Amino acid sequence: MDISQIIDPLNKAQRQAVCSEAQNTLVLAGAGSGKTRVLVHRIAWLVQIENVSPYSIMAVTFTNKAAGEMRFRIENLLKTPTRNMWVGTFHGLAHRLLRTHWKDAKLVENFQIIDSDDQLRLVKRIMKEMGIDDKKHPPREVQWFINECKDNGLRVAQLNPREFHNREFMLDVYFQYEELCQRTGMVDFAELLLRAHELWLHQPHVLKHYQQRFSHILVDEFQDTNTIQYAWLKVLSGNNLPATHMNTFVVGDDDQSIYGWRGAKIEHIREFTHDFKAGTSETVRLEQNYRSTGNILEAANSVIANNSERLGKELWTDDSEGELLQVYKAFNEIDEAAYVCGQIEKWIENGGKRSDVAILYRSNAQSQPHEYELVKRGVPYRVYGGLRFYDRAEIKDALAYMRLIANRQDDAALERIINTPTRGIGQRTLDIIRQAAKEKQQNLWQTAVELIADKGLSARAATSVQKFIDLIEELQIDDELSLAEQVTHIVEASFLKEFHGKENSDRAQAKVENLDELVNAAKRFDDEGDPLLDAMIEAKDEASANAGSESLQPLNPMAEFLAHAALEAGEGQADEWEDCIQLMSLHSAKGLEFELVFLSGLEQGLFPHKNALQDYVGGRLEEERRLCYVGITRARQQLHMTHAESRTIYGRSELSYPSQFLSEIPASLVSQVRAVQNSISGKHVTRNTSSSSSFASDDDGEVYIGQGVSHKKFGEGIVVDLEGTGARARVQVSFDNYGTRWLMLNIANLAT
Ligand code: ATP
Ligand code: MG
Repeated sequence: MDISQIIDPLNKAQRQAVCSEAQNTLVLAGAGSGKTRVLVHRIAWLVQIENVSPYSIMAVTFTNKAAGEMRFRIENLLKTPTRNMWVGTFHGLAHRLLRTHWKDAKLVENFQIIDSDDQLRLVKRIMKEMGIDDKKHPPREVQWFINECKDNGLRVAQLNPREFHNREFMLDVYFQYEELCQRTGMVDFAELLLRAHELWLHQPHVLKHYQQRFSHILVDEFQDTNTIQYAWLKVLSGNNLPATHMNTFVVGDDDQSIYGWRGAKIEHIREFTHDFKAGTSETVRLEQNYRSTGNILEAANSVIANNSERLGKELWTDDSEGELLQVYKAFNEIDEAAYVCGQIEKWIENGGKRSDVAILYRSNAQSQPHEYELVKRGVPYRVYGGLRFYDRAEIKDALAYMRLIANRQDDAALERIINTPTRGIGQRTLDIIRQAAKEKQQNLWQTAVELIADKGLSARAATSVQKFIDLIEELQIDDELSLAEQVTHIVEASFLKEFHGKENSDRAQAKVENLDELVNAAKRFDDEGDPLLDAMIEAKDEASANAGSESLQPLNPMAEFLAHAALEAGEGQADEWEDCIQLMSLHSAKGLEFELVFLSGLEQGLFPHKNALQDYVGGRLEEERRLCYVGITRARQQLHMTHAESRTIYGRSELSYPSQFLSEIPASLVSQVRAVQNSISGKHVTRNTSSSSSFASDDDGEVYIGQGVSHKKFGEGIVVDLEGTGARARVQVSFDNYGTRWLMLNIANLAT
C-alpha cells in the first residue's frame, strides 16, 4: 500500500492534518467536514508511512458503535486486522485497565459494573437506612450529585461540608455509597473513569508502563470530553510533566458539544493547545462539508448562528442546493408518525434503502408512536438507546442471576432477583436482611445465610430464602459448559422463562424471545469474544518483557460476558446489519449520517427541552441548539422536520407550539406541509394525501377525522380525533386560531 491510497481521498486541509508533524494536533471543524475520516486516515498514515506499531496507538471514540465503525474503516484502509490496537470508548478502555490492574486499582478481581438503575437502587437503599425523606430529597438528585462529583474527580474527602449548608446529608450518602460499592465490588460508570484516573495518579509504575507503550493517542468527538476524561488523557500523555514523547491528535467541533449536562466541557477544545504543550502544536481547520446538500447545510448554519459563545468556523459545500427541507405540522404524534412512515414508504418504493433512513427525537419516549406505526405497516426498524436490549427488565433479571452467581457480594443483583420470579420473599423479609447486613457491615447474601442459621427469620421466610440460596448454589458456574450452555441453564432453571411465558400476551412473548436472544448473544460472544479483550491478551504477549506491568488474566467467560453486556447496553441489538429504519435520540446520532432524516417533535418544551427553557442564563438553550445542529447535519440528501399541535407524552396530552429552532431556518429553504385531511381507521389516523374522496366516516357517521368544521367562538378548524359515542361523544378539533381542543359533540354545535 502506498501513500496515495491514504492521502488521495483527502482535500488539502485534511491532508495537512493527516500528515501533521506537530506533536499535538487539534482539528477543529464543523459537521461533516471529514474529522472522523481524517482520524482514520491518520492512523493508516502512522502505521503505513511512519511505521508506528499498531500496538502503540490508542484511539478513543464516543460510542461502541463508533468504535466498531472506526475499527472497520481502519481495517479496510490497511487491509489487515487491527487486533492489537486499542480502539474504544473512554469507559471501555478504563474498564480494561481496571480489569488488568484490579489489585493496583484496589478493586476485587471480579468487580461488577452497575448501571444507572442499580445505582439508583443502592442510593435509595442507603437513604432509607439513613432515614432521609425521599419526598423532600429525591434519590435521583443525590445520584446526580454523586456522579457529578465523580465526573469532576472529587471523592468525599475532597469536598468541603461547609459548602453544603443544609444538604450535608448528600455527603453522607455519597460516603456510604462509596463504602457499599467498595465492599461489594460494584463499579458504576463514573467510577470506571475516576478509578482509572486514580490508577495513573497512585500507581506510577502502571502509568509509566502505558506511557512507554503508547506513542500516539487519538480522540474523536473531543468537544464532549468531561473533566475526568480530559485529566486522564493529560496524565497518560505526560502533559502534566515538563516533557513527553507522546503525540496527541484530537478532532472536535465546539458546535456539537451536547453533553454539558453530563459534565462535558467545551473549554477543553480551547485549552487543548495550552494544556498539551509538549513540543510543537498545530490547529487545522476543515471547512468543506462533504455530507449534506446546500440547503441542509445552510439551514444548519443559520440555526447555529444564533449561539453566542462559538469558536467560529465556516462551512461550505460544493454540492448542489438539493431539495427544500420539509416541515410537517401534524395534528398529534400519531399523525406525525403516520406522515413519517408514509414518506419512508415512498422512499423505499423509489428504491431507497431502509438503513439510509433515520428517525431522530429529543427524548427516547418519543420512539413509541413511531415504532407503533412501523410495526403496523410492517417496516423493519431498529431502536438505538431507549429501552435497549441489555436494559430490558427480563434481560437485566437474567444478568442479575449471572452476576450473583459470579459474585455473591453483588447486593444490587440479589435485591433484583431475590423475589423474581416471585417466591414469597416479601419486602419485610428483605428489610430484615438489609438491616442486619448494615449492622454486620457485610453483604446481603452472607447475612441471609447467617440469619437462617441463627433463626433470625420466620420459618416461612427462612424456607423461601433458603430455596433461593439453594437455587443460586445449584446454578454455580460450570467451567465445562460453554457460555451459551450456562446461560441457557440459568434462564431455564431460574424459571425466568417460564415466569414470563405463563402470561399470554404479546409482551410476554417478546420477553421470552428476548431471553432466547440472550442465549444467542452468549453464543456470539463464545464465537467472537470481545475485540478489545483480544487486543489486551495479544498485547500482553508482546509486552511480556515490560517490567512493572501486571499480566492480564483472562476472566472466566461469564464475567467477561457480563462486563461486555454492561458496557454494550443497547448497542448490541440483534441483526445490526439488517436493512432497517434507524430510530435513535439526537444524542446517539452524533457522528453518524443518513440519506434521509426525520427530526421529529420540534416543539417548544420538547425540543428545546423544557428544562432549557427555564434556564434563564441561556447556556442550556445553546446546548439544545447545538443538538439541533447535530440533528440537521446528520442528513445527506433529504431532511424532514415535524411538529405536532398536540402531543401525549408520559401519559399526558398537551398542546404544543412549534420549536423556536424552526423559526431560525430561513423560510426560503423550507417547504411547509400541513396535515389537511386524514382518514380514520379504527383509532388510528393514517394520512392520506391523495384526495378528499377517500375519507371514511367514523362509526357514528356524523363527523369524521379530517372534516372541516366551524365553531361559534373558535372559528374554522379540522376534526383530528374522536372519542366515545352518543351523548358522550367528544371530538378534538384543530382550530386555525385557537389550537387544538376537545369538545363535547352534542353541545359544541359545530357547523360542517
Ligand atoms: P461529524 O462532525 O458529524 O462527526 P465529521 O467531520 O467527522 O462529521 P466525516 O463523518 O468524517 O465528518 O465525513 C462526512 C462525510 O463526508 C463522510 O461520508 C465522508 O466519507 C465524506 N468525506 C469526508 N472527506 C471527504 C473527501 N475529501 N472527499 C470525499 N468525501 C469526503
Ligand atoms: Mg465524526
